[in-house]
Amino acid sequence: MDKLSSAALELPLLEGAAYSGIVTTEGLSGGPPSVDLSYVLEGARSAISFAVAMDKKSIPPYFMKEDRHFLEKEMIRANALASGIALHLSNYLKSRGYKSVPVAANLVYRDSKGGKASYEPTDEVHPDVAHRYLAIRSGLGYLGKSGNLITPEHGASVILAAVVTEAQLEPTPPLPAEDSYCDECKLCLASCASGFMDFGKDASVSLGGEEYTYSARNNFARCDLVCSGYTGLSKTGRWSTWSPGRFKIPEKDEDLNEAHKTITAAYAKWPETSGGRLFFYTDEKLRVSCAHCQLICDPDPEERKRRMKMLKNSGVVIQAEDGTLEAVTPKEAKQRLAKMTPEKMAMYEDEIL
Ligand code: SF4
Ligand code: SF4
Repeated sequence: MDKLSSAALELPLLEGAAYSGIVTTEGLSGGPPSVDLSYVLEGARSAISFAVAMDKKSIPPYFMKEDRHFLEKEMIRANALASGIALHLSNYLKSRGYKSVPVAANLVYRDSKGGKASYEPTDEVHPDVAHRYLAIRSGLGYLGKSGNLITPEHGASVILAAVVTEAQLEPTPPLPAEDSYCDECKLCLASCASGFMDFGKDASVSLGGEEYTYSARNNFARCDLVCSGYTGLSKTGRWSTWSPGRFKIPEKDEDLNEAHKTITAAYAKWPETSGGRLFFYTDEKLRVSCAHCQLICDPDPEERKRRMKMLKNSGVVIQAEDGTLEAVTPKEAKQRLAKMTPEKMAMYEDEIL
């Protein structure tokens, strides 16, 4: 491998990434608009993709509803580290005479028509570059049935970032699909309170002449309602995410907009709780409440089952007057809600369950 490509692969690893790889525009050919590297850099020829792993020790306390902050801090740290590495690597390549652009790990979007890089949310947003596709084609991991990138040692509990460059780097090969540990265990689906994934249908993407399939996805608003922390009670009512919201997500897509308005209006009345990070667009704090489909997916199938069991036995989250979140049994949650005034109760659920 040439010296520049070796250095581009090594820099992320030296700075704390668990994996790094290179993909060229040929390796992404035939893909969706989100792999068009020229969107972030005219004349781009290659991208370096890398993954920062989260500390696995933060996952069980999160699923058991014992500690939300450890995991949230891990996620914020991994995001900041991945974006910081992207900046350093981009500067390194620029110092060698190649135009390069760092692609942040998260929270940068393009508009639905593929327009300029946007810092305003639109009805339908896409990342400026789809990290997971770059990662698959760079050999960092596989595409799980969930649609998430899954890596050989850290599963899906990684944060991805990239650098797009005009340097013609040497690509690293994708991992052989037959080595993927995804056995379609469906635990990503079982741990999702929103019904976002549809395991009955496949979605597929073509990248560099290879076809990749994963489960079809339902309307993105379903994930948004749960992943953003507005609501999170499971369909059985026996467990929840870290959200105290108990609103039902409508079956029909045409009812989602109205539900979104009602639920987010109720959410705006909740007392402030600790932690979170600032969301660029609204100055609201985003708090990690779900990410179950990502966090449950360990390479060890027994560990996946253990995590699902933790979640199922973790109870449901309710919120105290001072904003504190607490997990209690489903029965106790109902009793505590029943003691609230109708106005207070309406902040958390649309009807008594
Ligand atoms: S949780 Fe199971 S089905 Fe889902 S991506 Fe991971 S291994 Fe595949
Ligand atoms: S982040 Fe949560 S709501 Fe969104 S798909 Fe994953 S498990 Fe479902």
